Amino acid sequence: MYWCIGFALLLVLMPTVAVPVWENVTTSQFSEDDLSNLTEAVTKEMTQQKTQQKASISAADVESRAQVNVQRKDPDKKWVFGTAVIEAPKEKGAYPEGWIYVAKMEEAEWKVALEGSQLFQSWLQDAPSTVVNSNEKKAFANRSSDVKIMADQDQLRLPFALGATWTLTGGPHGYSGQNTPYSSLDLAGGNQQVLAAGSGNAYTMCGNGQGWIRIIHANGFATDYYHLLNNIRPNGSWVDVGTFLGYTGTDVSCGGYASGRHVHFALRYNNAYVSINGREIGGWVFWSGNSAYGGYAMHGSTVRYPGQGLYHYGALAPNQGIVDVVGRGTLNVRSGPGSNYPIVGTKNDGEIVTIACTATGTTFTGRSKTTNIWDRIGNGQWVSDAYVWTGSTTAVAPTCN
Ligand SMILES: [Zn+2]
Repeated sequence: MYWCIGFALLLVLMPTVAVPVWENVTTSQFSEDDLSNLTEAVTKEMTQQKTQQKASISAADVESRAQVNVQRKDPDKKWVFGTAVIEAPKEKGAYPEGWIYVAKMEEAEWKVALEGSQLFQSWLQDAPSTVVNSNEKKAFANRSSDVKIMADQDQLRLPFALGATWTLTGGPHGYSGQNTPYSSLDLAGGNQQVLAAGSGNAYTMCGNGQGWIRIIHANGFATDYYHLLNNIRPNGSWVDVGTFLGYTGTDVSCGGYASGRHVHFALRYNNAYVSINGREIGGWVFWSGNSAYGGYAMHGSTVRYPGQGLYHYGALAPNQGIVDVVGRGTLNVRSGPGSNYPIVGTKNDGEIVTIACTATGTTFTGRSKTTNIWDRIGNGQWVSDAYVWTGSTTAVAPTCN
C-alpha cells in the first residue's frame, strides 16, 4: 500500500521536479568547451585518486563511467563547485563512488580538488561565497585532531521516523559491497520515507539521477543515501535532522544494483567512508560480520540480525548511554557511587539514561569495559558505568562536585 502511495506521488511530482538544479550547466556563459575541459580535468583527478588507492579500475573505465556535475560557478568562470561520480557497473554489490569537488581556473586550465584532499580544504576557504557559502566552509572544515572524540559520538539518527521499526535488510558492508571499510547499512520498511540522520548541507550526487543524496554534518560526519525514489534534489541547501529526503527505491541511476526497495545508508568522517563497526546510530550499536551484509545490531542486550526489525530510539546525546546488563535482568540503582550504597531502584536493559556527572567507586566489568566509573543519573541515583553503553571507556560527563 505504501509503495502505491510513493509511486502515485512520483507520477504526480515527476514533471515538476525534473528541472532545476542542473540547468545552469548549459547556460550560455559556460560553453561546450568550458564544460568538456572541466569534465576532462575532473575525470583526470578521479583517475589519479583511483590509481593512488591501487583500485583495479582502469583509466578507460573511469573515463567511460565518469559523470561530472556543475552545481555552482562564479560569474567570471574562475571557480566551480560540483559533484563528480564514477558510476558503478549495474551489478549486485557495486555502488557508485562520488566526490564533491572544487575546480579553479589557473593559466587557462582547470585545476581540480576532490573532497578528502588537503587542497580541497584550502580551496573551499578561498572560493568566493557565490560558489561556496559560509555554512559549507564551516561544515567541510577538517577536524582530524578530534577524530577519536567525535567518532565516539556521532549523534546521528537512523534515516527513518523516530519510534518506527524498519528492517535491517543488509548489515555492515562497503561502498562496493565487499570493499572495506564496512561503512553502510541497508534499511527498508515502514512508510518508506527516508529522513535526514542529522542536520547539515545536502547534495544530490548524480546529475541525471534521482537516487543519491549526501549530507555533510557540522560535526565532521557525513551520511549517504542511495537508491532513493523521487528525492528532494538538494543543491547544498541546509536540511534539519528528520527532513524528508525521498522514498526508499531501487534507483540505480549512478549504477549498482537493488533487488528491492531500500535505502543504502553510509557513514563518512572527514570526507571519507569510515567503518560503522562499534558505532551507535539511532540507539543501536552496529557490529560487522566476517563478510559484507552480515553482522548485527545491539541495543543493550537485545540483538538484531539482518532480516530483523530495528526500533528507532533517536540520537543519543553526548552524555547519554544505553543500559546493558549483559543479559542478566535489571541494573541496580544505588544512592551513591559504589555497591556499598543502598539499592534505591532498578533500570531495565535497554533503557536510555542521561548522565549528569560521574564519580569513582566499585569496579565492575560489563560487556565492553571494566571500570570504576559511576554515573549519576538522577538525584541520589547512581549506576555503574560498566553497565551503560556510552561509546566510550572514559567518563562522558564531568566529575560531580
Ligand atoms: Zn547497501
